[in-house]
Amino acid sequence: MFTKKESFFWQAVFWVAVYILLTTLPLFLLFFDSTLAARGFWRDFSAALGFAGLAMMMLQFVLTGRLQTVKAPFGSDLVYHFHREISQVAFWLVLAHPLILFISTPSTLGLLNLAQAPWRARFAVTSLVVLIIQVCSSRWRRKLRLEYDAWRFWHGVMAVAVIFFGMLHMIKVGHFVNQPWKQVLWIGYGAGWVSLLVYIRLIKPWLTLRRPYEVVSVTPERGQAWSLRLRPRDHEGLRFSPGQFAWLTLWETPFLAKDHPFSFSAGPDPSGELRFTIKELGDFTGTIKQVQPGQKAYLDGPHGSFSIDRYPQAPGYVFIAGGIGVTPMMSMLQTLADRKDQRPLLTLLANREESGITFKQELEGLEPRLNLQLKHVLEKPPENWSGESGFINQDILERYLPDNRQDLDYFICGPPPMMDAVEKALLKLGVHFGKIHTERFNLV
Ligand SMILES: Cc1cc2nc3c(=O)[nH]c(=O)nc-3n(C[C@H](O)[C@H](O)[C@H](O)COP(=O)(O)OP(=O)(O)OC[C@H]3O[C@@H](n4cnc5c(N)ncnc54)[C@H](O)[C@@H]3O)c2cc1C
Repeated sequence: MFTKKESFFWQAVFWVAVYILLTTLPLFLLFFDSTLAARGFWRDFSAALGFAGLAMMMLQFVLTGRLQTVKAPFGSDLVYHFHREISQVAFWLVLAHPLILFISTPSTLGLLNLAQAPWRARFAVTSLVVLIIQVCSSRWRRKLRLEYDAWRFWHGVMAVAVIFFGMLHMIKVGHFVNQPWKQVLWIGYGAGWVSLLVYIRLIKPWLTLRRPYEVVSVTPERGQAWSLRLRPRDHEGLRFSPGQFAWLTLWETPFLAKDHPFSFSAGPDPSGELRFTIKELGDFTGTIKQVQPGQKAYLDGPHGSFSIDRYPQAPGYVFIAGGIGVTPMMSMLQTLADRKDQRPLLTLLANREESGITFKQELEGLEPRLNLQLKHVLEKPPENWSGESGFINQDILERYLPDNRQDLDYFICGPPPMMDAVEKALLKLGVHFGKIHTERFNLV
């Protein structure tokens, strides 16, 4: 039997193999066909790039579709990172397709005259223009000051348009889809993609709608945060591992996809009650304090693999959090206390000021129940502060990490610069990167 770690490793290998197969299979099947008329290497090569790019773009929906089976072995951070990076590869592949064609066969430049061009060219240009807008608006979303929810909506619409027009272009060109079996293959790809879209946009929200939650209470926390307690309304609720997160919908219907991700900030409760702790940062998080008990809420989850339950064999854990990044740590620490786990734990919490330390008292209350060393690092410490000050760095880590630091599992969550600095420092201290687990609150 596999251990949990080995099982996730083999699942990861499986999904990577499926990904490679699905992006390259059409190429092999379509190009190794002796019945095709020769059109020259560069022309066929450019078409190959176009096919690969299109297949990759279809698979982007699998990556962002919150399919926990696919994401589990990698974790959301890695999957979203891959989504962003691979979209650049797909973009350049698709762009290279016409560029190579224009250079190798200059007469094809005439296809850019859309007034007279055949429909296959019009579809191709439409797909490419939308793709360019999509890539630019994603890359420079913040610089262009695009509001997140609006950007997310149009990002999805444009992704569908790029693939739709790309497929129309491919069918109209017809060269590599000239036989029934090839048409079946691409129709299969298209049908798989449409079914996924239907599942993500219609079936999943419908399932979410059927399992509503109700707000039990909203309480203020230190650090401009609010704790929201929810209980399932007429269903058994969800089972999650401490450290995971869920997508929360308030005020809206789940069909509008206006949900926001939040980590569970308490351990699993037998009553099914859940807690999220949300820092006031923007449009949505600023509304939490107005929520009234009894309000309906919807959840899509659990998601993520940032959890001690993935590494049950560890001889001890280190939790390093900055600001509101403490929420998943709180969930894991509370669970360890409920389980009467006595393995050594170190928690380092970075905050600007003492008054802003979310869960300060709750964490201190857990100390006697756990074998826990809790250390605060303050950017602006008060007078007579005896704890650490400044930012968490290699010196601070070295001071508190035990001798068996290589054997421990590390969980890091906080502002990106803090996470990057801590990751680097841990690697320098000889911790293996496989032992460092991160949850980034900025997916996009
Ligand atoms: C896995 C995960 C767990 C999280 N857990 C917590 C938590 O426990 N407590 C907490 O306070 N915050 C948490 N966050 C962050 C929280 O989701 C964002 O702060 C919140 O969605 C911002 O929404 P807003 O409308 O208030 O802010 P806005 O002002 O609209 O946006 C600020 C920034 O937040 C991000 N953002 C906005 N909306 C979304 C969205 N729907 N999905 C993803 N990112 C978005 C964007 O990068 C945006 O630029 C978590 C994020 C992730 C990815």
